Parts: sequence; structure tokens; C-alpha cells
Amino acid sequence: MLVLVINSGSSSLKYQLRDVGEADGGREPEPAVLAEGLIERIGFDGGPADHAEALGQVDAELHRVLGDRTVDAVGHRVVHGGERFSEPVLVNNEITRAIERLNPLAPLHNPANVLGLRAIASKWPEMPQVAVFDTAYHRTIPEHAWRYAVPNWLYTHHGIRRYGFHGTSHQYVAGRAAELLGIAPEEFDGVVLHLGNGVSATAVQGGESIDTSMGFTPLEGLVMGTRSGDLDPSILVFLARQGHGADEIDDLLNRESGLKALAGSNDMRTVVEAAESGDRRAQVALDVASYRLAKYIGGYHVAVGGAKAIVFTAGIGENSAAFRARVAARLGALGVLLDEGLNAVRSKEPRTVSSPDSAIQLLVVPTDEERAIAEATAAVVRAAVPR
Ligand code: AMP
Repeated sequence: MLVLVINSGSSSLKYQLRDVGEADGGREPEPAVLAEGLIERIGFDGGPADHAEALGQVDAELHRVLGDRTVDAVGHRVVHGGERFSEPVLVNNEITRAIERLNPLAPLHNPANVLGLRAIASKWPEMPQVAVFDTAYHRTIPEHAWRYAVPNWLYTHHGIRRYGFHGTSHQYVAGRAAELLGIAPEEFDGVVLHLGNGVSATAVQGGESIDTSMGFTPLEGLVMGTRSGDLDPSILVFLARQGHGADEIDDLLNRESGLKALAGSNDMRTVVEAAESGDRRAQVALDVASYRLAKYIGGYHVAVGGAKAIVFTAGIGENSAAFRARVAARLGALGVLLDEGLNAVRSKEPRTVSSPDSAIQLLVVPTDEERAIAEATAAVVRAAVPR
């Protein structure tokens, strides 16, 4: 099955065409990437006028690659599924409107996702479309972990609760980690660390998300490239009283904080190099980021009733041996032992980087959100349209 994976932003459209193969009951081979690309500057000078025009460019590229073959289904990355969506769904007008109603919860992302859904529906009205939500995997989080200790109307009127994000990545990585350990996905108890430009940790018990560090928005939790993560909420009140407006505070915490604020760069390679050449700000940044991560790992180890594995993924988790080593060094109390030789090996394969006597295994498992979306899309379409 040929699945076009779409990640639609407000002024960009990222796509990847994958051949998911046919269902055979067993594990499928890795779906081949047949085409991929990024169209930017939608609605700006020199770029396509709108998402429909951007899709025209994608279509032309697909024709070039596919010749007479056609796309069988489109899978969309949708950031917010609210409380309604706990799994990928086949899209119709009602579903698109339901996603649109969630716009206030993800004002930068969901409106763009809706534009993508509508652009496909008007270009290819018969095309099966599937929405795959970043929040869906976290719908199993119990109330004691999703509820904030604030008056209930904040929840009932505004939907203020923990939702969690990066769910597609956490679920995919937890599944691959279980495979690496030789157990079924439902047997996996562990902590998954998605360390990219955005950073989140998820507590996984029995293969399900039972807690995650991002909350009502992706700002909560760990130190990220440009986001602060956790801080005393009174800081916002203080800043507001000092005359800083909502947009300014939003910008400060989402785009001017994190590694960028601490070390002057949001690129982990730059920060590690600076720290190694003696830059004190960079050293402090790595200390803050790894310390905060270790605290979450300790907490989630307790939450899952004893993690069997701690799994590193995404740009930093997969590639930065130096950062993994700094995190592992803070986990001595859990009996975690890193194998420095294994940790230094660069690879695209899922692998173990702890020593055999480590009390908890340390794994590196590359994420692949497009693959997860393509496979989820194919599964939903096959179930809806049995052949
Ligand atoms: P992502 O959002 O998953 O693309 O991850 C982006 C982050 O990964 C950035 O902070 C990059 O600096 C970091 N990253 C990518 N490659 C490496 C590498 N080889 N070593 C250290 N960090 C890396």
C-alpha cells in the first residue's frame, strides 16, 4: 500500500511517500521511502499561495516517481487529539470539524493540520485519509497523573489537563525496544526519552503510557532546545505584573529559553563541543539538562513499578553519546551502568549501550514517526476497507 505521510505546518508542508507492503499477519519489512520533501514559504513571496497549491507541487513530484501508480491513502500527523482521540482515525467531514474544534488547544498546529486535511479532500475527494495524533498514545494516562491541582472549572471550561505530546514516537520506540528485549509490547515497562529539539520523557507500563513530561502544551517538563520546561508558575505572574505581555512571555519561554538561553545555542553538538573546550555556560547547560532528566527518570522508574529499560531516541538521544553518558552518570543510585565502548558506537540500529551488570538496560532506539504514521494509516484503511 502506498501511503503519503503529510505533516502540515502553518507555512510548510512536509511529505514522505512510503510503500507499506501488504498485510501478511507477521511483522512487515521496513516500509520503503519512495519520495520525500519539504515545501516552505506557503503564503509568502516566492512560495505557493496556499496549501492546495503546495499539494499541486507534491502531486507533480509523486507523478514523476510513481508514473502510473497512485497513492492509496494519506496519513496526517495531527498534533492535538484532545480527549476524544485515543487512536488513529479514518477522516471524514465530522472528524475534520472535531479536529478544528481543538484549535484553541494547539493554536499553532491544529489549524495547519486542518488545512492539510481539507486540501487533500478537495484535490482527491475519494482518497482515504487517516489522522494520527501526537496526543493519542497518552490517553491511557490515569487521572492522578493528568489532573493539575487547580479548580475544576479550568478543566471543564478550558480543557486544562495534561495531554502529552510526541506520542507517535514514544509508542513506536517503546514497541521497538520491546522487540529488542525479546518481549511482547504489552510486557514492556520502562522510560522512553525523546530527546530532540523538543524533549519529553514517558513512563511506559505494560506497553501503555502512564505518565509523560509534556503537559497541557509541549512547554512543560524537561529542558529543550529553546523551551524552558518546568518552572515556578509564579514567574509568569511576576513577569505579567512587571508589564510583559502574554505573547512576549510565550516567546520568552518557548523560543528564547532552554539550551539556547543557558548556552547560547540550541544545537546539542555545539553545546557539547563548547563544554569540552572549557566553556562554563555550556557545562552548566549540560548539567541542568541532564540533572533534570535524571530526576524524571527516577520518578518514572517508581511510577512504572521498576523500569526494565531506559530508552534514548530522537536527534540527541540517538546521536549524542556525550549527553547519554552525562545522564547515565547521574543514575548510579538505580544501579545503572553504561558500557562506554557500546555507547561510543554510531549506528542506525536499535541497540543496547549498558553493561551486562546494569540493573536497568540502557537502549538506543531510532525513532521514525513517518514510518509509524504510514503503518497506522495502512492498518486503519485495511480495517475500514477489507479486501
Ligand atoms: P530532532 O528534533 O530529533 O531532529 O533533534 C534535534 C537535536 O538533535 C538538536 O539539538 C541537534 O543538535 C541534535 N543532534 C543531531 N545530531 C547530533 C549529533 N551527532 N550529536 C549531538 N546532537 C545531535
